[in-house]
Amino acid sequence: MRIDAFIGLGSNLQDPAAQLARAVAELAALPDTTLVAQSPFYASKPVGPQDQPDYVNGAVWLSTGLDPHTLLNQLQAIEQAHGRERLRHWGPRTLDLDLLVFGTQTLDDERLTVPHRELSNRDFALQPLLDLKPDLRLPDGTAIAHLRTQCPDNRLRKLPPPDYP
Ligand code: ATP
Ligand code: MG
Ligand code: MG
Repeated sequence: MRIDAFIGLGSNLQDPAAQLARAVAELAALPDTTLVAQSPFYASKPVGPQDQPDYVNGAVWLSTGLDPHTLLNQLQAIEQAHGRERLRHWGPRTLDLDLLVFGTQTLDDERLTVPHRELSNRDFALQPLLDLKPDLRLPDGTAIAHLRTQCPDNRLRKLPPPDYP
């Protein structure tokens, strides 16, 4: 059975828009998975430490037969291939791939909390989800569109088309 999975992408090092574009292609090539759609990319202010460059963020909609933990393994392998180093919490990174929503499933274990625990606080994750699927809801029925209206402002700026594929 295939599940609709929504992945948030972020980067603020080493040509962030290019990091995201490559990651989208790599996600599309995952086993037992197809890319349904990709969002526009946005520039945003960092969360956490402010002494780091602005981010580029986006999201993809995948249809996948992978289970959530296998998908997380694949996301982390792609992060590693992009040279991701975890030096400090919410510090700068070449690539972050977060599993935002996995169908109507909720998960909370030592490796995985789904829906992503910070989703409702992050316009840079909510807005691309809205672009992908305006009627998307969390498993508890909360509309992503509603969360977007309540969310703190990270000064999102949609990047012009030449800056994303
Ligand atoms: P944040 O999770 O607040 O966005 P981050 O993305 O910088 O912070 P990471 O260093 O990428 O955090 O990941 C830390 C851990 O979060 C990972 O090892 C992973 O096991 C765990 N994790 C829990 N839930 C998720 C999820 N939904 N998507 C991705 N990683 C998750
Ligand atoms: Mg993250
Ligand atoms: Mg992460």
